[in-house]
Amino acid sequence: MSDELIRALRDAAAYLRWLKRSGLVPLRMAEQGAGAPVSAMAAPPPAKRPAAAAAPSPGPGGTVQAKGPRGLVMQFAGEGAKVRELNDLSGTVSACRKCALGNTRTNAVFGVGNPDADLVFIGEAPGATEDETGKPFVGNAGNLLTKELAKHGIGRDEVFICNILKCRPPGNRDPLPDEIAACEPHLLRQLDILKPKMLCGLGRYAVATLLRQEIRIMQIRGTWRSYHDIPLFVCLHPAAVLHQPNNRDLFVNDIAALAKAYHERGKG
Ligand code: URA
Repeated sequence: MSDELIRALRDAAAYLRWLKRSGLVPLRMAEQGAGAPVSAMAAPPPAKRPAAAAAPSPGPGGTVQAKGPRGLVMQFAGEGAKVRELNDLSGTVSACRKCALGNTRTNAVFGVGNPDADLVFIGEAPGATEDETGKPFVGNAGNLLTKELAKHGIGRDEVFICNILKCRPPGNRDPLPDEIAACEPHLLRQLDILKPKMLCGLGRYAVATLLRQEIRIMQIRGTWRSYHDIPLFVCLHPAAVLHQPNNRDLFVNDIAALAKAYHERGKG
């Protein structure tokens, strides 16, 4: 038996052990490696697949969406305290009913990405596509964000992406103060586990909520603030480009400035 085959079999066995421990039924593996989706996995991968493709621990950004009693639950693959704590918190969020949104949402949207991310993106709240899929920033605005980051060599699997609210407000209305009060502790706990070097607040509402002050996004976009002592970059929301194409250059410039800071400071 070749070394490669032995490695692949070991990986498959470890994956099955991990699934058993988590007590979850995998629906699919997403954003593995460079972000390519991997189709449904009901059985261990064929032994002949290269070890990297069959890996039970997909590495940075590897997530498994599992069916929980209250919708899809995001689970992070890998070992270690960070991954365990993130998975515990994700389970807590998926069952959360601290505000009324827990009754109207389809899926909680915990967040996706790399448990060791240096950069965390924070949006306002999930929209319709996010509510359906249980993943943040996967609609048109999310696709624009993903595309712009990729131009600077930043993959979704390398950073972490989440929202202040983990559940969609019906009809995409603005979050209510009691919903923010109920949900922000989940975000703080997330950041406490992730320990990123920098944050990026996406859009006026998210940034104003994080800073606890009214802001004019056009005045402070592209600048740095701070949220719980973590540097916070203020970025135009990608949806602002979709609503007003004239905003494209501003958004492109914001992401370029963020990427520059990330490449200079983030990975060190
Ligand atoms: N807008 C947000 O603020 N968050 C999402 O997840 C999607 C769109």
